[in-house]
Amino acid sequence: MSDKIENLVYKKKTAFEKEDEAALAVMKEYARGYAAFLDASKTEREAVKEVIARLTAGGFEEYDPAKTLKAGDKFYVNNRNKSVIAAVVGSGDIAEDGIRVSAAHIDSPRLDLKPLPVFEKDGIGYFKTHYYGGIRKYQWTTIPLSIHGVVVKKDGSTVEVKVGEEPGDPQFCISDLLPHLSGDQGTKPLDKAFSGEGLNIMICSSPEIEDGEPVEKDAVRIRILSMLNEKYGITEEDFLSADICAVPAAKCVDIGFDRWLLGAYGHDDRVCAYPCLTALLEHKDAPRRTIMAIFADKEEVGSDGPTGMKGEIFHDLVDKISRDCGADPAVVRAHSACLSADVTAAYDPNYPDVYEKTNSAIVHCGVGLAKYTGHRGKSSTNDAGAEFTAKIRALLDKAGVVWQMAELGRVDQGGGGTVAMFISTHNIDTIDIGVPVISMHAPFEVISKADLYETHKAVSAFNAD
Ligand code: MN
Ligand code: MN
Repeated sequence: MSDKIENLVYKKKTAFEKEDEAALAVMKEYARGYAAFLDASKTEREAVKEVIARLTAGGFEEYDPAKTLKAGDKFYVNNRNKSVIAAVVGSGDIAEDGIRVSAAHIDSPRLDLKPLPVFEKDGIGYFKTHYYGGIRKYQWTTIPLSIHGVVVKKDGSTVEVKVGEEPGDPQFCISDLLPHLSGDQGTKPLDKAFSGEGLNIMICSSPEIEDGEPVEKDAVRIRILSMLNEKYGITEEDFLSADICAVPAAKCVDIGFDRWLLGAYGHDDRVCAYPCLTALLEHKDAPRRTIMAIFADKEEVGSDGPTGMKGEIFHDLVDKISRDCGADPAVVRAHSACLSADVTAAYDPNYPDVYEKTNSAIVHCGVGLAKYTGHRGKSSTNDAGAEFTAKIRALLDKAGVVWQMAELGRVDQGGGGTVAMFISTHNIDTIDIGVPVISMHAPFEVISKADLYETHKAVSAFNAD
C-alpha cells in the first residue's frame, strides 16, 4: 500500500504490532500486580481497604476537613468504607489548570444476602439472596461461591465475614437441574428459566443435635445459627444490619497458552480502578495540575446514594480544594477534565451478531475510548464533544498509548451506562475510557493484559498533561 493510502485510511493495530518486546514484558509484570489487587478486592469494602493501603504506602494521608490544603498535599477520603476519593494538590494555578479527574467504580454485580437470609427446606439450609447489578442468573448456578461482608451489631461493633477464599475454607453454591430432568426448564426463554427468588445458596446440610436427637423444629436452620453464633458471636437478628454478599470464589488466572488474557470475577471495574490508582501513585512531588482519582460505589445500580457518583461529596471536595488554593470552584470545574474509567464490551468472535465490528473494541488493540454509552438513541449518556475528544486523541497519541474508539455493541441490541454523565453534569468535560471485557458481568470475565497496561498509560498521560 502506498504512503498516500496508508495515511488516508484508519487501521486499528494491536499492542503486539505497536509496542516493543520490553514494553510487552512490562505489561505482563503490571498484570501480576493487578491480579493480586483484584484477588484481595472482591467487594467495594475490600477494594477500599486495598486502595487505602497503597495510598498510605505512597504517602497519602486521611483527609482532615479542618486543615487548609496546599500544593503537594496528598490525601484521601474514605467515604463510609465503600468509596474513596484521593487527590494530589498541584503547584500550578488551579483556576487556570483545573483538576484532572479519573473515575472508576469498585462495586461489581453479585448476590447480596436478604435482611433475613437463613432458611431451610427439606433438610438443606440456605441463604436467600437479592442480586445486585445486572446479572444473567443462570451463570451464577453451579459455581463455587465465597461469602464476604460485615455485620454491624447494635452496639456499633463490626464483625467481618470472609469465607471461601483461603485454602481449606468451605465454599458455597447454588444448584441447578440435571439435564435428565430439565425438560420443562429447557423450553423456557433464558431470562424466564431462572428466577431471582431461586438464587438460594446452599450453606448447611446437617441438623442441630440435642441429647442425641435432631431438635424438633428447624433443625438445620438452628444448626447454622448456632454455628454462626459460635464463630462470629452473632444472632439471626444481627443480619438485619449487615452488608453480606456472595461472589465467585475463583481467583484471577492467566487464560490461554500464551498467557495474554486474564480471567477473573470483577474486572468491571477494578480493571480500571487499578490503573487510576497506579497512575495517581506515580506523583512523588507536587504535579503542576491537581490530580484526583475516584473509586466509586453503586455504579452497577445507578450511582445513587452517598457513596455513588451522584453523591455530593465530589462536588464538596472540589469546592474545598479550590477555595483552599484561592480559586473560584466554578472556574476550577469549568477548566477541569475527567476520564470516566470504565470497561467496555470487547468484540467476541464467538458472538459476532451482537457487535458492529468496525466500531467495537478489539482485544489487544488497547484502551477503549467511548465518546458515548447509553441506550437506544444515545439516551442516558455523556456524549463527549468533538473538541474534547480531539484533545484526548492528541494527548494519547503523543504519549504513545495504544488506544481504540469503542461502541458497546450494535445499535438497539442493548446498552449500558457509566459515571461519565454524573461527572460531566458538574460542568466538567468528560470522556469514557477503559479496558475492553469479554463476558462482561459474568462471574468470570476476561480481559487483555495489554489493554490493561495501556489504560494505565492513558490515565498517567492524562494526569501529567
Ligand atoms: Mn463498569
Ligand atoms: Mn458494569
